[in-house]
Formats: sequence, C-alpha cells, structure tokens
Amino acid sequence: MILTGKPYLPERKKLETYIDRIYDQCWLTNDGFLLRELTDRLSSYFGVSNILLVTNGTFALQIAYRALGLDGTVLTSPFSFAATTTSLEWEGIHPKYVDIDSETFCMDTRLLEKAIDSETTGAVPVHVYGNPCDIEGIQAIAEKNRLKVVYDAAHAFGVRIDDRSILCAGDASVLSFHATKLYHTIEGGAIVFRDAQVLERAKGMINFGMNSEKNLGGPGTNAKMNEFQAAMGLAVLDDIDLIMERRSEIWHRYESRLKDSFQLQRRNPNGTNNYAYFPVVFQDEEALLSTDKKLTSHGVISRRYFHPSLDTVYGDNQIMPVSRSIAGRVLCLPVYADLTDGQVEVVCDLLLFSDD
Ligand SMILES: *Cc1c(COP(=O)(O)O)cnc(C)c1O
Repeated sequence: MILTGKPYLPERKKLETYIDRIYDQCWLTNDGFLLRELTDRLSSYFGVSNILLVTNGTFALQIAYRALGLDGTVLTSPFSFAATTTSLEWEGIHPKYVDIDSETFCMDTRLLEKAIDSETTGAVPVHVYGNPCDIEGIQAIAEKNRLKVVYDAAHAFGVRIDDRSILCAGDASVLSFHATKLYHTIEGGAIVFRDAQVLERAKGMINFGMNSEKNLGGPGTNAKMNEFQAAMGLAVLDDIDLIMERRSEIWHRYESRLKDSFQLQRRNPNGTNNYAYFPVVFQDEEALLSTDKKLTSHGVISRRYFHPSLDTVYGDNQIMPVSRSIAGRVLCLPVYADLTDGQVEVVCDLLLFSDD
C-alpha cells in the first residue's frame, strides 16, 4: 500500500530522551520545560516572535479570531479544509466566501474587495498547499477597509516569501501540527501574532482566562499544548531538514514526469515551496474518478483534497464556481519522507499510462 500521507515517526530512542525529561521533572502540562524549548526553537526556525503553541490547529484559528476581536461577517476561502469555515461558525462569526484563483487555488484578491460590506470585520485567506496568497494585495485591501487578516497557514510550515517567514503576513497566522501534516506534534498548532499585546491576551485565553499573575479575568478556555506533544515536536524538528530534503526530491520527481499531462498549481514566484502536497488537476471529474479507482486497485491511496468545495456544505448557499471546479478535479498524490523513488515511479506510471 502507498498512502497519501504517512505521519513521520522520529527514531524512538531520540523521542525517549525528551520523554525522559518529562519523567525527571514530573511536569506534564502548563507551560512546561519542553513546551518552552519548542516555542523558542520554532521561533528561531521561522525567524518570528510572538508565537503561541496550542493544542491543535482548529483551536489556534478560534483563539486568533477571539484575540483579534473578529465578529459579524468574515470573508474566507471555500477551497480549504472544513476547519477554516467551521472554526468561524463555532465562534459565532458568519462566514462569507470569496472564490479562488483558478491557477494558484488561493483567494482571488480581485474578488475580495467586492465582497466587503458593513458587517465585515476580517478575512481568513488560506495559503493553499503552502502556496503564499497575494499578501500585499490583501494587506492593501485590509488597511483600506480596516479589516483584520488571519491567515490559515496550516499547510505553510517553513514557507518563506521575499526572504522572510510567510507567518509574518497579516495580523495573525495559524499553523496546524496535526500528525498528517509536514511537521507535527501528534495534535497541535500555533499562532503567530503581529502584535505582542494580542499574544498576551491569547496566552490568557488558552489557560481559562488566567493572566500572567494567575488572576482570572476575561473569557477563557483550555487549549494548552502538553509536554508529550512538545516532546514529539522537538524530536520531529530535529529531523526537519532531512524530511524537507526528501520531500523536495519526491516533489520534483513528480513534477518532471507529470507537468506536461496535468494542470499543476501555479506557485507564487516570490515564495519558497515546502513540498507539503503534490496536487494534480484532471480535465474533468470523470477522468479523476477513473484514475483514482485504478490507483486504489493498485494499492495507491490518493486523496481528494480539498473536496467538496465548502460552499456546497456551509454558509448561505453561495455558489463558488472556480472552487467547485477545482475541488471536483484535484487529487493529492502520496508525499512523505520514506516514500521510495520506485513508488513515485509506480504512481506516475499509473497516472500516465492505461494498463488495459
Ligand atoms: C489541518 C488543517 C486545519 C486544522 O488543523 P488541526 O490541527 O487538524 O485542527 C485547518 N486548516 C487547514 C487548511 C488544514 O489543512
């Protein structure tokens, strides 16, 4: 079997050295030693300040909205994972969709400004498959219309644009460290805030509303990352260069074999690639379905990701034609560190040649 994604497991001995420290300290959660170390290491890895680690990416989105005071209507992308929209609804915010660009698969900036009305307080664009959005265009529209911008950067671990981290864009950027992502802490997530004061507010929110003096105040919930999550995060971070290198090789192998036969995502020319996903777009949904069936019968599990377009499930019955079109035709191919070159060739052969 060849799976779409396979969680990265660091060497067990290495993970144990971190877990030994948890046993030595007998400190399992609440701003522990490993959490602090991981926060520092990620902060320097990305080159950002104001980073807050939390228990998962969905909570990271919710906390970012609250800390920035989003309410009313927020504009977001229909071509994403469900959590981008459902986290808004969960916070009592009304999601309104803005369609995507047919080549970059990110929010179409030309449509963003038209969608703003008197209820709009913010935007949640998605760096789809780690491809940086038009952050300058979005920033200009946000400033003009006094909108807060929270980027769903769940796919964008390690991505840089114009020589700085993509996580510097907007008022906040949110990462997911779920097991199936490029980098993970089993379950986990992070928020990078532009403003240190907003970070302080969010720190209280994830710990029942307690401030740094341990006084209660303001709304709170429990979204803390625990020490075992941080241990996994530290061990995976130790291997991140190797993980990225291998993914890059796989990604380029796919690209060279498939670029003339399928539509591939157009990447932002100023951004780097983290090789998190390899999406291919078919001519039509029938072609996708028949190829997917063939792949499955040969033990290759690819993923219709994202499918369906979120406007078919959530929101006010808006119809987002571009998102629906791409969602109906896109398939993400297997990419993970221990996928072999031979396996990549098998997948490409199945995509390119009919076997009957
Ligand atoms: C994975 C993902 C999320 C949710 O993150 P979790 O850590 O699984 O809660 C949100 N948005 C996008 C685009 C994702 O891919």
